[in-house]
Amino acid sequence: MKETSTIAFHSDRVPARFLLPDGSQTTKSLQVRFDPLLGTSSRIAEGVILPKADEQALTPLQAADANCPFCPDRISRVTPKMLRSIHKDGRLERGESVLFPNLVPYSQYAAVAVFSSRHWLPLNEFTPQRLSDSLSVAVEYVRRVHSVDPSAQHCSYNINYLYPSGGSLPHPHAQVYLDRHPTTLMRLQADANSAYWTAHRRSYWEDLVKVEEARGERFIARAGSTTWITAFAPLGFNEVQAVVSGCETLLDLTDEDLNALSVGISRVLRWYESIGYNSFNLALYSGSLKDSSGWRVHLSMITRTAMLPYYRSDAMHLERLHWEATVDRLPEEIAADLRDFFGG
Ligand SMILES: [Zn+2]
Repeated sequence: MKETSTIAFHSDRVPARFLLPDGSQTTKSLQVRFDPLLGTSSRIAEGVILPKADEQALTPLQAADANCPFCPDRISRVTPKMLRSIHKDGRLERGESVLFPNLVPYSQYAAVAVFSSRHWLPLNEFTPQRLSDSLSVAVEYVRRVHSVDPSAQHCSYNINYLYPSGGSLPHPHAQVYLDRHPTTLMRLQADANSAYWTAHRRSYWEDLVKVEEARGERFIARAGSTTWITAFAPLGFNEVQAVVSGCETLLDLTDEDLNALSVGISRVLRWYESIGYNSFNLALYSGSLKDSSGWRVHLSMITRTAMLPYYRSDAMHLERLHWEATVDRLPEEIAADLRDFFGG
């Protein structure tokens, strides 16, 4: 344990006291927690409640949509193609997955990977096979772009599912980011990783999963090269993280790694569905394709407010303008629930 004692989990329990309408004094629990890598803080506050899923609210989205650009009769006619220097046919396909450039340049090389020809998938049908095929075409896309333009070195694989997550189309799809600039969070992580690597000559993420497995409170499971944990200081509701041991960038991921990630993601999504959520975000962060010593490919997934006609967004002033997440449940409770879904 001495080797991993460089990771510190700081939290502060802050009792919030006030008088109830009947005059009696009450104390609500609040924990402020500090991310062990970045030092950023998160809040776990008693009484934060998000509405749960309502099946009826999904009915309009489940119906066939003649205008959906990702459905089989339109996808080959209305979606863009890659430059010929990247791929001669313009789109990458594997299994049910089809990848093509994003019409909106969220990054220099932004791509969309549609999961399935089916317009609607409940969370329990994000199967390991569909996820693995999607991740495979994303990795292939990154490999092809980087070989043509080595300056595009910062990449990630992401999912927005349903409108509360920021997704603009309900047809399930992932988004690949590849750019000369990292996102803010990836830059902060890269800087902190470099400092940790310089100080200890060990990977922060390898140390993190070792210490989390030894402590047990937030540890969910190991599966192949992947370790699944809950975040000590969450960025959102029901956050689950995974670290891929030995892999610095998306280009290091083997088929076995992709399979382990896919099985784990599908288990987490089944759990999300079981607790009444249907909208989620996912990010799989790669180290820079140029220099990534110490980085490990890692993943974060969170639930968003369930899809409802009039919903309370889970992102309020704290999340958007203070960069501070406030969530309802302790990560240690979430890990205990999830161990069942990982067969633990
Ligand atoms: Zn569709």
